[in-house]
Amino acid sequence: MKKPRIFTVVLYIVVLALLFTWIVSFFGNKADDLSYSQVVELFQNEQVKKFTVDGQKIYLELHKPEETTGKKNLTCALANPDSFRLEMKDLLDKQHAAGVLEDYHFVPQGSWSAYELILPLLIVGGVLLLLWFLAMGKLSNSGNPAANFGKARTTLGIQEKVTFEDVAGAEEEKEELQEIVDFLRNPAKFKEIGAKIPHGLLLVGPPGTGKTLLARAVAGEADVQFLSISGSDFVELYVGVGASRVRDLFEQAKKVAPAIVFIDEIDAVGRKRGSGLGGGHDEKEQTLNQLLVEMDGFTKNEGVIVLAATNRPDILDPALLRPGRFDRQIHVGAPDVKGREDILKVHSRGKRLDENVDLKLVARSTVGFTGADLSNLMNEAAIRAARENRKVLTMEDLNEAMMKIMAGPEKRSRVRQRKDLKETAIHEAGHAVAMYHLPTQDPVLQITIVPRGQSLGATWHIPRDDGFNPTRNQMYEEIVGLLGGRVAEALFLGDISVGASNDIDRATKLARDMVARFGMCEELGTVSYLDGGEVFIGRDYQTTKSYSEKVAGTIDDQVKLLIDKAYAQCAEILKANEDKVMAVVDHLLANESMTGAQFADCMEGREIGEATKVSLFDAHKDDM
Ligand code: ADP
Ligand code: MG
Ligand code: ZN
Repeated sequence: MKKPRIFTVVLYIVVLALLFTWIVSFFGNKADDLSYSQVVELFQNEQVKKFTVDGQKIYLELHKPEETTGKKNLTCALANPDSFRLEMKDLLDKQHAAGVLEDYHFVPQGSWSAYELILPLLIVGGVLLLLWFLAMGKLSNSGNPAANFGKARTTLGIQEKVTFEDVAGAEEEKEELQEIVDFLRNPAKFKEIGAKIPHGLLLVGPPGTGKTLLARAVAGEADVQFLSISGSDFVELYVGVGASRVRDLFEQAKKVAPAIVFIDEIDAVGRKRGSGLGGGHDEKEQTLNQLLVEMDGFTKNEGVIVLAATNRPDILDPALLRPGRFDRQIHVGAPDVKGREDILKVHSRGKRLDENVDLKLVARSTVGFTGADLSNLMNEAAIRAARENRKVLTMEDLNEAMMKIMAGPEKRSRVRQRKDLKETAIHEAGHAVAMYHLPTQDPVLQITIVPRGQSLGATWHIPRDDGFNPTRNQMYEEIVGLLGGRVAEALFLGDISVGASNDIDRATKLARDMVARFGMCEELGTVSYLDGGEVFIGRDYQTTKSYSEKVAGTIDDQVKLLIDKAYAQCAEILKANEDKVMAVVDHLLANESMTGAQFADCMEGREIGEATKVSLFDAHKDDM
């Protein structure tokens, strides 16, 4: 049987989908349920639950069905959406704050009408293209769809060009790669003098640190083709497919040389061989063997350089790391403060920043963020500015974006019971008061019982230093602080809730690290009991233990002892400060939030001052 090619099928689907949306929008535009004055009335009667203004149209969702139409979802044409927005602003804000209006959006105007214009053109174009394909007989002689399986699905030259300028805060990495760039630009020079350039380089580092970006930048700097494939693409259905893809990839590269071949997630194919518990010759092994063959098969200076990325170099097959293969490693780590500032600068290109934006301060407050995190932060802030129809991005946007990234978006509209609020207030007050009495813990910036993401409340504190080398005492006191929520619930509520589960997870993990990883427990001595190597069982990898069951038991006991000790200390602190905890709870129930300064007032027995605007970046203001 003859099978149509995937491409043609996709084309059919696209054309049909476009036709369908066009028809729907065409007829959809005719029928309006309401007049403008009815819409305004609905808002005034607090009937609207959600709405979206899209172009000239408003889509409403009501709390209960409208009387005349009996429908809950209604539309209306707006002659002038901008003036509607201005007129309604105060009302919307008020209802949104009160939780009556749960959610609303203004889709930027113009996008829809342009779409409507282009749509018929697209459809006509699509139909013509289809006819052309039919005429060329492409449909009938495409043959076996599996024919393309062995081909490497590479991306060749379609992405926009990236250069070293786009990679910030990675000066050493760039310097190491410069050599490769020079070689690709002028291979003859290196050939003449007989210099050997490594043709395999391994970029090692955690996700989001810019490995892919660096690889692309090397190709961009040298102005050569960039062929990339991900290790997980190789792990496919049929035996032999991966190997033939590898062959194909290198064939393509030699054709377009000089070129960079980039193998992302090489650990997916390059795991140690022979550790599998079932048959030696599985698919991955064949793929890996082919890769090794290809890398050895280069004649010198052919102009193809293979870069690969992984965050687990320890599990790679040693054969991959032998001379002539990936014999050079470049470590790409999370950026330091200067690097973070530079990365923020790269990602604020093309965005207008308000005068109050201080990227230095943001950089200082984002310890542990990778390039990808920082890019995400800038983007979230820009989205927030755009949603509020501002053209400049402010420090408040960045602050809000950071909170969103760290804990999810704020959910003011969630209706909450007074009992819930009290539970949350006690929980958060417990964290804050405990931390206040722990010398190594960072000062509290803000306490809030406004839910955000998964959490019902939060006690914000931002680390002051880079935290690269915490001491035992610091880690222990962090555990005490983390238990503050649960301890307060137990002491002052007489019952405990699941709200503390995340705190408990983190405390347990910390305690485990202290005992089994950092040798901070006398019982077990200064020995690291990390889990051992990985064993391949069926499709999965399982970790093995490199220590006895007896030690495993001792580890568990010591972790529990440590947590129990922290719990007792926390309970002592909170019992001695019950009045303070209650004062914080009262303030939270009355005001939802408490700033760091207000908290300090409360703890030091002063009258609680006015709330000032808090920013996560405040912790680093004084370091300037
Ligand atoms: P990895 O491959 O290490 O997981 P990526 O290269 O895919 O990381 O990085 C993801 C995104 O993060 C990039 O597209 C880029 O926008 C941003 N990014 C990461 N590192 C940097 C950096 N050093 N400078 C600028 N942007 C970066
Ligand atoms: Mg990547
Ligand atoms: Zn908590």
